[in-house]
Amino acid sequence: MILKDFFIGLSQNQLLNSAAKKYGLKLGAQNVVAGTNIAETIESIKELNKHGISCTVDNLGEFVFEKEEATAAKNQILAVIQAIHENGVDAHISLKPSQLGLDIDYEFCKENIKEIVSAAHEYGIFVNFDMEDNARLQPSFNLLDELSENYDNIGTVIQAYFFRAEEDLHQHKNYRLRIVKGAYKESPEVAYQDKQEIDKNYIKLIEWHLLNGKFTSIATHDHNVINHVKQFVKENNIPNEKFEFQMLYGFRKEMQLDLAKEGYNFCTYVPFGQDWYGYFMRRLAERPQNMNLVVKQVFTKQTNTMIGLAAGAFLLGRLTKKK
Ligand SMILES: Cc1cc2nc3c(=O)[nH]c(=O)nc-3n(C[C@H](O)[C@H](O)[C@H](O)COP(=O)(O)OP(=O)(O)OC[C@H]3O[C@@H](n4cnc5c(N)ncnc54)[C@H](O)[C@@H]3O)c2cc1C
Repeated sequence: MILKDFFIGLSQNQLLNSAAKKYGLKLGAQNVVAGTNIAETIESIKELNKHGISCTVDNLGEFVFEKEEATAAKNQILAVIQAIHENGVDAHISLKPSQLGLDIDYEFCKENIKEIVSAAHEYGIFVNFDMEDNARLQPSFNLLDELSENYDNIGTVIQAYFFRAEEDLHQHKNYRLRIVKGAYKESPEVAYQDKQEIDKNYIKLIEWHLLNGKFTSIATHDHNVINHVKQFVKENNIPNEKFEFQMLYGFRKEMQLDLAKEGYNFCTYVPFGQDWYGYFMRRLAERPQNMNLVVKQVFTKQTNTMIGLAAGAFLLGRLTKKK
């Protein structure tokens, strides 16, 4: 738990995030990030498509507090949509409202997302609104609901650790939904803390949406959940067209290929760009062993120093708090 808190704390550390960007740490993290630019990313998508795997593309970035930065992110996502269309690849978009200005101004963010959704709509491309932390949850649902008055190519994520997840799911059952356990640090006032409780709620939400909802994306690396879903869809005669499995780029690669080979719809979440820091720290919080995946590529002397310093500050903070 302490380790998890530590990495989540790091993921939200704006100083380290901007330092990581500023010093342009040599990414080379081909194992977890599909490319640093659109051309490289399209090549990675083509490779996955060859195996019957579709993709959802995430332009990495968060902690956006300047309008120029949000506008640049919007333009980059518009360019991705254009590239998906021109290359005829099987891919859609995942976006984070905070990257498009949610923390700056709601209406500004809505306009940015509307432009993206509208461009994607023209090409029949789906846009998923990723869900972030509790503070951004309701505003993100509001964005989705308001834009759904004019667009049907949008959907979002339900995070099973929230107490309100079931109600949100029922209210949004007519959307294509990705269901996840939840990646952020949330307080006991709003979210389950116990892994078993989260897992139990996760299964409950997946089963409900498979039976009652529109399309379901089951986004997990948890083989127990995946095996359970395989059994559940068989027993309930739920056709493959009603759901897909999703995993993150670079994680459990063999299992991704196997699920696609078995005939299930499979979609890989493909992050790309320079702003890898927050994304990567959340993956370490989920599973410190994930360090193995990237240790050679991402961990240069500079990152080690940064993380070492942050670890020192974090532990010092805990020790002084205890006094
Ligand atoms: C495609 C996708 C999109 C997501 N989008 C969002 C989002 O919008 N918002 C959000 O809050 N979160 C999102 N998440 C993150 C999600 O909420 C979880 O934090 C994350 O997926 C970790 O939980 P898990 O279900 O994969 O399994 P965990 O609970 O982390 O793992 C369960 C078990 O599975 C096995 N396992 C897990 N990973 C591995 C591995 N790499 N290799 C071998 N065994 C492994 C281990 O036995 C582990 O004990 C997303 C996740 C995915 C896959």
